[in-house]
Amino acid sequence: MERTHSLSAAATVQPLVERPAAGSNALAVERSVGDAAGFELSTHGVSKRFGPVTALDGVSLTVSAGEFVTILGPSGCGKTTLLRIIAGLEIADQGTVLLGGADISRLPANRRPVNTVFQSYALFPHLTVYENIAFGLRARHFADTEVDRRVGEALEMLHLEEMPARRTWQLSGGQKQRVALARALVNQPDVLLLDEPMSALDAKLRAEVQLELRRLQRRIGKTFILVTHDQNEAMTVSDRIFVMCEGRIVQSGPPVEVYDRPVNRFVAEFLGTTNLIRAWRNNGTVHTEMGDLKPRAHPTWDNGVLAIRPERILVRRDRPDANGVRAVVSEVFYRGDRLDIYVQPLNLHLRSVPGAAHLKPGQEVWLELPTRHLEALGE
Ligand code: ATP
Repeated sequence: MERTHSLSAAATVQPLVERPAAGSNALAVERSVGDAAGFELSTHGVSKRFGPVTALDGVSLTVSAGEFVTILGPSGCGKTTLLRIIAGLEIADQGTVLLGGADISRLPANRRPVNTVFQSYALFPHLTVYENIAFGLRARHFADTEVDRRVGEALEMLHLEEMPARRTWQLSGGQKQRVALARALVNQPDVLLLDEPMSALDAKLRAEVQLELRRLQRRIGKTFILVTHDQNEAMTVSDRIFVMCEGRIVQSGPPVEVYDRPVNRFVAEFLGTTNLIRAWRNNGTVHTEMGDLKPRAHPTWDNGVLAIRPERILVRRDRPDANGVRAVVSEVFYRGDRLDIYVQPLNLHLRSVPGAAHLKPGQEVWLELPTRHLEALGE
C-alpha cells in the first residue's frame, strides 16, 4: 500500500506498513490499525519489572490522535521503559498497548507505525545527511523517485535543504537533532516517540528547538510523545503532561492545570518552584507557621502543607483583607527579567517584575497569599 500524502500536509493518517508479509499474524492488526478512524494510543495497566526493580506499576494513559504529550518525571521513574514498551523495544510483563483500538502489544517494533528519536540521535557517521534520512525508506525498497520526494520534503521542513551532502560530523548539535527528526518523520509514523532528544543541546538552542518542535507538530498534526525530566520543556511543548513518580502516573493534564493545581507535594516541587508552609487544621481553621490562612480548598488532612508559587505572592502597602502576612525582606536578587526576593519568616520566596517592587533588605512589608493560589497539599 503506498502512501501519497505530503509530510507537510495536515495528516490523513494511514498505516505505515506498506508491505506487510503475506500470511503474517500481524497483518490483521496492521490492517485494522490502518483502517481505524484516528489513532488514539493507549496503555492499559502496563507493568514491568527488572529483577527486584519495579520500573512500571500499572500505567494506564490515553493519547488522542494529533496530541503532543510529555511524560515528565525524575531520573529512574520509568519514563524510558514506558516509551520503549510503546515502541515495541521492550515487552510489558502485564498490560496492553492499543493503537487506533487495535492491540499492538505483541507486534514487533519494526511493524508498529511508530518511530523513535533517541537521545543519542543514533545517526550513521559514514552516511550523508540525505542518506541518513533516506535510510528507512531504502530498507523498505521504496523507488528512488519516492525516496527523493520524501527526503526533499523532510529536508525542507526541517531547514536542512542547504546540507544534504554533509556528513554528520560536519553538523552542529541542533542540525544533528533535526536530521534525527527528519529520519523518523520521513517514514510518516502515526506516532512519533521522542526520548529526551534535546538533552545534548545547550540551553539557548534547546529553547529554540523546543519551539520549532512544537510548531512542526502543529503543522503536521501527528501524535508526538516526548519523554523528559525538564519541566520547562514539558510546559513549552505539550498539550498535556503526564507526571510520573516511581513507576506510576501521579497526575495528568494541560500544563496550566498541572502547574497551578498540583495534586500533591511531589508534583508541586517537581514542576517549578514553590513555597511550602507547614499547616494543621483545627475546628475548620487552618493554622500555619505564618498565622491562620485560608487555602483554595479546605484540606482533608489534619497536618499537611500549603503551597504557593513565588510569582503568586503579592506585596501590599497596607494589611490585606485576607491571608495577610507581615514580613521582612532579607535578600533581593536581580535576574534581568525578574526579581527573586526572600523574606522572613520562613525564607519565603517571592518573584516579581523589576520595577513592580522597590524592596530592600531590612524593609518591612505586607504580603498577600491569595486564597485562589494557596493549595492544601497532601504528600
Ligand atoms: P532516566 O531519566 O534516568 O532515563 P527513566 O525515568 O527513563 O530514567 P527508566 O530508564 O525507565 O527510567 O528506568 C526505570 C527503572 O528501571 C530504573 O530503576 C532503572 O535502573 C531500571 N531499569 C531500566 N532498564 C533496565 C534494564 N534493562 N535492566 C535493569 N534495570 C533496568
